[in-house]
Amino acid sequence: MTLRRSSDGLWQSPLLSSQNWLSHSFGTAEAAPADGYLVLHQVHGTQLVDASEWHAHLSADALATDTPATRIAVKTADCVPILLADPVRKVIAAVHAGWRGTAAGIAARSVAAIGKRYGCRPADLLAAFGPSIGSCCFEVDPDAGQHFRAIFPERNDLGRRTTVDLSEANRRLLVQSGLDPSRIAHGAPCTCCGGAEFHSWRRDRAPGKRMFAVIGIL
Ligand SMILES: [Zn+2]
Repeated sequence: MTLRRSSDGLWQSPLLSSQNWLSHSFGTAEAAPADGYLVLHQVHGTQLVDASEWHAHLSADALATDTPATRIAVKTADCVPILLADPVRKVIAAVHAGWRGTAAGIAARSVAAIGKRYGCRPADLLAAFGPSIGSCCFEVDPDAGQHFRAIFPERNDLGRRTTVDLSEANRRLLVQSGLDPSRIAHGAPCTCCGGAEFHSWRRDRAPGKRMFAVIGIL
């Protein structure tokens, strides 16, 4: 397990906790990060926007900033929350990767976007994945599965009902983008079978029940 549950019930990645210029946490159904962060109207797309452009109705699925005293977040319930940090340029990003966004490459597109905007080099980046639905529970039909052929070229079962590991898909996209595998913290608990601590859309179908993954520059 690459995340640790702290005494306040929030989950943290030791990889990001080692960075004294930022704060971060993955909230649960039972523990919410402190208020005071920017969050988007998420639409299962691939666009990253800068926090300086933020407004309450902005539709996108990734946020980035280099501004001190700014906290940004994504909300999920099964989708993969990805927090990115560049310790060299002091840039952070929060990415919402559901199955559509994952298959459309939001992880790679976000790395490219912060490279273009801030000059972040992929090899410098740290990444941490929060709790999301695991391959234990994420069954897909062929309509969805076929979108993962490019990410899992070794698989020949995506044309029938099967399971997909969204976390692994995003990990591969980040490695293909140039991230060092040792700088990617993945392996968080499954939201669907992980118990009442986590919201799961697939399990509960409860509108508005979301968990917040927050990262901020101090
Ligand atoms: Zn599961």
